[in-house]
Amino acid sequence: MCVATVGLVVEIQGQRALVDFSGALREVSIALLPQVKIDDHVMVHAGFAAEIVQDVSKLYREMVASDARAGQILDAIGERAKKFSDRQIRIMNFCGSHEHTTVQYGLRELLPANIELLSGPGCPVCVTAAEEIALGMEAVWKNDVTLTTFGDLVRVPTPWGSLAELRASGGDVRVVSDVQQALRLARTGKKEVVHLAVGFETTAPATAAAVVEAAAEVPSFSIISAHRVTPPAMRYILANHAVEGVLCPGHVAMITGLGPFHAIFADFSKPYVICGFTPLDVLQGILLLLQQLAGLPVTRNQYAYAVREEGNTVARNLMNEAFSLTDAYWRHIDVLPASRLVLREKYQYFDAEYRFALQVPPVGKEKGRHCLCENILQGENPRKCPHFATGCTPAQPLGPCMVSREGACLICYNKGRS
Ligand code: SF4
Repeated sequence: MCVATVGLVVEIQGQRALVDFSGALREVSIALLPQVKIDDHVMVHAGFAAEIVQDVSKLYREMVASDARAGQILDAIGERAKKFSDRQIRIMNFCGSHEHTTVQYGLRELLPANIELLSGPGCPVCVTAAEEIALGMEAVWKNDVTLTTFGDLVRVPTPWGSLAELRASGGDVRVVSDVQQALRLARTGKKEVVHLAVGFETTAPATAAAVVEAAAEVPSFSIISAHRVTPPAMRYILANHAVEGVLCPGHVAMITGLGPFHAIFADFSKPYVICGFTPLDVLQGILLLLQQLAGLPVTRNQYAYAVREEGNTVARNLMNEAFSLTDAYWRHIDVLPASRLVLREKYQYFDAEYRFALQVPPVGKEKGRHCLCENILQGENPRKCPHFATGCTPAQPLGPCMVSREGACLICYNKGRS
């Protein structure tokens, strides 16, 4: 109980705050810190936020810059990069979590000038179609249900407004930190609960488990599935962009195993590394990519301490039990084949779109709003957007990339990417 840990405040409800500890969300009391705001870093001890921590980015940057092991890997990257001094090497952080680590620890600034790290489309909140969020709105408008979802999604702007605006006008929209919380609400509350489920292979197994549980004993629970799988987006990036290697999401590989990654990158003959999320993981991943580019035989699983070749079969069996795949629009990107997880017919009753006959008109690509999320999700630096930090800020976001914690625009805004 004597451990004090720094986390990021992502949601405030009265005297409680939802705090992000490197991706794990926990509710803590802010009774001792009434001045705290969303996006503050706080020191949490024994369930209470005790102090606001200033200038965390500087602290993190100095940690890496003075770390001996990081120095060794950076020296090796520097040596290897000299061999490619006649060209730029473009490497993609597919996942928002890698982008987060890259910016938080100032890794771009530490790399040789000819190594370019691009941010990718691996932000599930950013790619959730506006229509899928609108289905949740329609469930609340027409059916008086409780809508639950994750905090980031609530503030995402759509042509129909945001879930936060719906909540402000009296709609019953609640933030949960996991799907089991939504299931508990359905068990104990008086209203039907619709959970708007987003995320990749990392969160889909938990949703599948909740649906299977609901089918046995919680008929007042249903979901709108906006879950996506990552391989179609990887193929899209490799087919449409000149990237020379990809840092692949280690947490996705934990579920899928290495097979899908081997297959994709064999088709495109490109280097890849399954990568963890600490700054040392990311630096080591970059070095392994450069070694592959040089034709050296190296492991492609940098995250071997957490990822098994076969992945997590229990999680995959649960996903297969509940879901099948369908084509889907990835917001600001394109329709990607077999990329959305939808409930199988045997669980149709727990599909809110079916149960409440939900329908919204498709909007597809949102032209004319001048948001550059399309480019940002495919490698562009957020600072190239004319609205960045002027017309578009976390308080007044124009696009999902300025809302989601894994969105490149918000990461850049909060942490100061160069
Ligand atoms: S800064 Fe705002 S408007 Fe520009 S791309 Fe990012 S989210 Fe869109």
